[in-house]
Amino acid sequence: MVRFFAAKSDISDTMIKLSAQDASHIRSLRLRPSELFIVCDGEGLDYICRLAATRAQETGDVFAEILEAGSSLGEPSVRCSVFIAFAKGDRLDYAVQKSVELGAHDIKLFPSERCVSVPGDISKKTDRLQKIAMETAKQCGRGIVPEITALDSFKSAVGLAVLADLPLFFYECEKKLGLGAALDQRTAYSTVSIFTGPEGGFEPHEAEFAQAEGMLAVSLGSRILRCETAPVAVLAAIMLHSGNLA
Ligand code: SAH
Repeated sequence: MVRFFAAKSDISDTMIKLSAQDASHIRSLRLRPSELFIVCDGEGLDYICRLAATRAQETGDVFAEILEAGSSLGEPSVRCSVFIAFAKGDRLDYAVQKSVELGAHDIKLFPSERCVSVPGDISKKTDRLQKIAMETAKQCGRGIVPEITALDSFKSAVGLAVLADLPLFFYECEKKLGLGAALDQRTAYSTVSIFTGPEGGFEPHEAEFAQAEGMLAVSLGSRILRCETAPVAVLAAIMLHSGNLA
């Protein structure tokens, strides 16, 4: 079923006001009046709807008539925050799209010493990535649209990441603790931070700082994954381990 997101303020007991963009999307799909679609409130609640027969006369607003409501099925039981270092080109586009598909709760971008590129206009970058997150969330059936934010320092990123039950710092120079062992160490986790570095990897003093603050330095084995692959591989592994991938 096609899926849209609506602001809570546009949802009443029986009707949902669709955004102009979604209304024109519905028109282009040529949905028949009997065809159903889903409108999600972005907070985990899905409404099964059909197009309302009448439009608002003055504004031309298009409404969806609510037939049924229920929890979104697309939200995993584990809340993963993904911290990704700024990277160049379209690498972040890929990482954001795949992270949203795999169930990331939110994505935070941060600068790190070996970043090859930090965007000049950060809000333009986050706006673009937020659009990718929205389109992906619709396409894959998420119950929320993961929020994309940019943090202004490596230290503030670590400060937020350590708050999770499982704060994982992926360090290409770590040789002892693998991801599997880190996950098995703590079976009851409901929040996870996944922290991955830029093209150039992390500086040793960054890894030391993160560990001193309480993060676990974790290895992904003997191959080096690209900066856009690492968070996606980790999310897939955590979703499988926590029973959210099957
Ligand atoms: N250029 C660096 C690697 C950077 S990979 C080098 O050649 O060593 C980008 C990021 O992905 C890393 O900072 C780390 O967070 C993650 N990553 C990639 N491969 C990894 C591995 N085998 N173990 C742990 N983290 C890894």
